[in-house]
Amino acid sequence: MFGKGLIKGMWTTLKHLFEKDLTIQYPEEMPYLQDRYRGHLIYEIDKCTACNICARTCPNNVLHLESARNEATKKREVVTFSIDHQYCMFCNLCVEACPADCLHFNHHFELSEYVRDEIKVVYEGTPNLAPLQEDGKASLGELAEAKSSETSDDEDKKAKQINNMINAVKKNPVKVLSRYADSEEAAEILASILINDEAKLTRLVPIMLEDKEKAKKIANAFVNKELKDRAAEKGGEE
Ligand code: SF4
Ligand code: SF4
Repeated sequence: MFGKGLIKGMWTTLKHLFEKDLTIQYPEEMPYLQDRYRGHLIYEIDKCTACNICARTCPNNVLHLESARNEATKKREVVTFSIDHQYCMFCNLCVEACPADCLHFNHHFELSEYVRDEIKVVYEGTPNLAPLQEDGKASLGELAEAKSSETSDDEDKKAKQINNMINAVKKNPVKVLSRYADSEEAAEILASILINDEAKLTRLVPIMLEDKEKAKKIANAFVNKELKDRAAEKGGEE
């Protein structure tokens, strides 16, 4: 009927006229942000163990870590850590992967800058970590020493990676293990096996880091055996 749509439209306008405003007068008034809002990625250098897991996890190469072994402390330390915010897609993968909880998002959402270079934030760590040899004229003894130091450095790094992965599995088992299981159900079964059996966990983790396909096969075997045991147990009860 003529005019019916107009009246309907006017009625809708009238209804909204008396409702509470949803818009705010930004920037005078700041918006309410939910607890899990992802704004600016923050890095806590004091907690960082220089394991590089975050940089390897980031799909957009936003994070870059330079580290070196500190001969005084015998530990790997951060020299510089940079976050190139312009490429970050706020996926949170780095935050979840960091075993030392050094990364988190705050509520700062005004991320634009006048100069492109200022978008990248560089954190300075321990300065002047000395390289093993500077002039390239090291003696054979020095080279051997450097080599063995490199080897032990590699071993330290590997041990740290294994430790970090074990902690990640303990902290978030299903999520981490879903990469090595065929289904979500299999990931849950695998998680319950590894959390209750430290020996299996420490056996599987180094393989997970070195050979994903092999780790998948072993994980699959663990899950199949568990399913078989459960079926046998059920059959016995009946
Ligand atoms: S949130 Fe995602 S894209 Fe951004 S730095 Fe972390 S892993 Fe990379
Ligand atoms: S994962 Fe965490 S501890 Fe490891 S390098 Fe990144 S920020 Fe540092």
